[in-house]
Amino acid sequence: MPVETNNKNKIKPPNKRQFGGSLLILLTLLLSLNLFVPNIFGPEIPQVPYSDFVAAVQAGKVDKAIIGNERIQYTLKGEASENQTLKGKTPEKVFQTTPVALDLDLPKILRDNKVEFSAPPPDQNAWIGTLISWVAPPLIFFAIWGFFLNRGGGGPAALTVGKSKARIYSEGSTGVKFADVAGVDEAKAELEEIVDFLKNADKYTRLGAKIPKGALLVGPPGTGKTLLAKAIAGEAAVPFFSISGSEFIELFVGVGAARVRDLFEQAKQQAPCIVFIDELDALGKSRAGAGGFYGGNDEREQTLNQLLTEMDGFDANTGVIIIAATNRPEVLDQALRRPGRFDRQIVVDRPDKIGREAILKVHARNVKLSSDVELATIAIKTPGFAGADLANLVNEAALLAARNNREFVITADFNEAIERLIAGLEKRSRVLNEIEKKTVAYHEVGHAIIGALMPGAGKVEKISIVPRGVGALGYTLQMPEEDRFLMVEDEIRGRIATLLGGRSAEEIIFGKISTGASDDIQKVTELAERFVTVYGMSDKLGPVAFEKSQSQFIEGYGNSRRAISPLVAEEIDREVKEIVDNAHHIALSILDKNRDLLQSMAQELLQKEILEGEELRGSLKAAEAPTEMQEWLRSGKLPVDMVLKQTAFA
Ligand code: ADP
Ligand code: MG
Ligand code: ZN
Repeated sequence: MPVETNNKNKIKPPNKRQFGGSLLILLTLLLSLNLFVPNIFGPEIPQVPYSDFVAAVQAGKVDKAIIGNERIQYTLKGEASENQTLKGKTPEKVFQTTPVALDLDLPKILRDNKVEFSAPPPDQNAWIGTLISWVAPPLIFFAIWGFFLNRGGGGPAALTVGKSKARIYSEGSTGVKFADVAGVDEAKAELEEIVDFLKNADKYTRLGAKIPKGALLVGPPGTGKTLLAKAIAGEAAVPFFSISGSEFIELFVGVGAARVRDLFEQAKQQAPCIVFIDELDALGKSRAGAGGFYGGNDEREQTLNQLLTEMDGFDANTGVIIIAATNRPEVLDQALRRPGRFDRQIVVDRPDKIGREAILKVHARNVKLSSDVELATIAIKTPGFAGADLANLVNEAALLAARNNREFVITADFNEAIERLIAGLEKRSRVLNEIEKKTVAYHEVGHAIIGALMPGAGKVEKISIVPRGVGALGYTLQMPEEDRFLMVEDEIRGRIATLLGGRSAEEIIFGKISTGASDDIQKVTELAERFVTVYGMSDKLGPVAFEKSQSQFIEGYGNSRRAISPLVAEEIDREVKEIVDNAHHIALSILDKNRDLLQSMAQELLQKEILEGEELRGSLKAAEAPTEMQEWLRSGKLPVDMVLKQTAFA
């Protein structure tokens, strides 16, 4: 990655810190003066014990005394001159002692012995102490506050709460070009237009056209939105300002708004340039939805309003183009999306097979690949992977090859890397006892047999009883044969049955069940509930959505379920249970019919630990559904929106 040149030092006013600094220096000076004045200027006076002083008084030797709270100074008779005060005496003739506070008889003794005594004159420097005691606490407070602000907020200017945290990347320094982004050709084509606006603004303004102010990149995480924004700046060779929506949200109301103002001020000075606002949803959450639950968020609202004002406030042709990114466009405030603001929405979707191959190529540029590696095949095996996942995959494969001291990265490295990303790291060190191992083996074979028979689930690629990841003691890997964007009703039912296959196998073989199926059950329940409440696939409840859409539902506040009567709630519960029970029944009957296959495959798996490839497929071909079910397996055609990802059953 290119180095970001961080120019913030140059754009911050430097004087405020100096002001704070000189205050501090003055303060310490005053303090030290106060402490050292008596020592520097006061004469060195011999110190005597209090008892000696009293003895001297009683012996009638003392001439005059000044009785202070903290010290008593006195002169002896015969040694005193005519002067009224003790000041100006030569040091040897003046003595000093510390009074004993309890000695209340002292005045009487002094009077009896006719000593002339008085209290010390008021300290002429006392006002400094008073001043300091009033001024110092707030000064210290501000100094500490400034210090922490400085550390937290970055930048040398203490006490500048509202200054933007936006960084300037100097010209062309993002170093990212469109060639570095692959698999999102449509988005790139649209963004190329923006590059042209930035490069040849007058071509458009000459004809009276207005350059669009903002573009919103919409897409799932890791699909390359940030990368694309950088590529625009890189291609047009303009400065790149970037800030994340969450950085606007501050503890103090008004700070976020000040940041927005400051950001745009800076951007206008550097035009033409790109202002990139990442995670716009953190800032631009619909005000309508939020207000209902917790009375609105003042800070966010103010910041958002400021952003809207700024976007309206500058002339479209100044050359500042705002690019924002979000993965939750549906929660954005309507006001952000109207023309004149983010009027262009550019979808950056998960790549298809060809796109994945292209992205793999980009990231494999600097990796030494063995000649047997076919990126196209790897692309087929990775449906649902986003650009970031693929970048990670290539890196994992390269790391594996390096660990094995290979010259080149081979296909096996990629396969292992894919499994790692899907199911987690292998944990051979986790030793299972015999019974556990047997349970896991039957459980996984149960998944595999059901999975092989269910419609649309793809082929079972691998079964393993080598522990992986956080909790998986074994796993079954199933790969869809192609990218899928819809799932039909019976495929969901099939998926539920496959998930229950593991537990069903345990029931049939051991007559009792282990805790190993908890993750499966979790997924089953969730899927069945979505079947009813989100996809509207239940015959009894019909196409009614029982879950709120994202724009109506604010995470962490209230219920995601629509307001429903208790009767309907009961109905939903019953439907969910029925779907699960049905699938469980299907899994049990299939496994019962294939008991022999289940036995033989489990034994083989116990021996080899891993079953895969042709061998596995050959065994699974022997699986057959009970006759009464063959009809059901061919039915159902309701479309639903769900990306079928590669799955691993634990
Ligand atoms: P997003 O902002 O959409 O969450 P990023 O742009 O931050 O995703 O992507 C993270 C990383 O993943 C990038 O730095 C890049 O290495 C890789 N990546 C993501 N999408 C692509 C793509 N389409 N082409 C090439 N690399 C990509
Ligand atoms: Mg991003
Ligand atoms: Zn399982």
